[in-house]
Amino acid sequence: MKFDIITIFPKIFDSYFKESILKRAQENRLIKIITHNLRDYTTDKHRKVDDRPYGGGPGMVLQVEPICRAVSSIKHKASRKKSIKIRVILFSTRGKKFDSKTAKRLSKYDQLILICGRYEGVDERVAKYIADEEISIGDYVLSGGELPAMILVDAVSRQIPGVLGKYESLEEIKGSYPVYTRPEIFKFKKRSETKTVKVPKVLLSGSHKEIDKWRSG
Ligand code: SAH
Repeated sequence: MKFDIITIFPKIFDSYFKESILKRAQENRLIKIITHNLRDYTTDKHRKVDDRPYGGGPGMVLQVEPICRAVSSIKHKASRKKSIKIRVILFSTRGKKFDSKTAKRLSKYDQLILICGRYEGVDERVAKYIADEEISIGDYVLSGGELPAMILVDAVSRQIPGVLGKYESLEEIKGSYPVYTRPEIFKFKKRSETKTVKVPKVLLSGSHKEIDKWRSG
């Protein structure tokens, strides 16, 4: 699966994608992540990607033309290969809320093109004519679509067979549950009172049946 991220701040992605599970998934060629600097798709010497909003108001708006050029170029390269399923996603505060069902659905595509907005947002014609869908990652406003893109890439990658390795089936079958590790007894001070907290007994019982029951709530 290939992720193409269109952004004006490609460096933001440098560290997160180079660690841990996503790093291994790329090394194992299960996923490929490419960042594209939107400014590379401009035609003027100032490499301008934004302009003032029509009708007035604060801030700047990312222009439709460089985004259109970037998406076309990525799609054009992809079309040289066999028929692949591509989905173009625009991050927007007005999009459909991202959840695990959406992550699963998106993991069925061969290629996702992710458009990160910035400033006051993105010219609406991108949402209407270029993107296949708009996604919001939650009811709050961030400074850009880069964090949403990282979240989507992470969550979608975990749905791709092999990315989680041996943990995959566990997560699939049992869902999420609270976990504990050493020490068994933990002492700490809270408002000058010493508290002692222990790991739930059932987890030390050795009975897989009881542990499974506890974990499934
Ligand atoms: N004024 C805009 C906010 C723009 S924030 C509004 O009210 O909608 C700049 C960009 O950050 C957006 O274009 C979008 O791409 C991204 N963004 C901000 N918050 C987001 C969220 N919760 N989910 C997805 N993308 C978000």
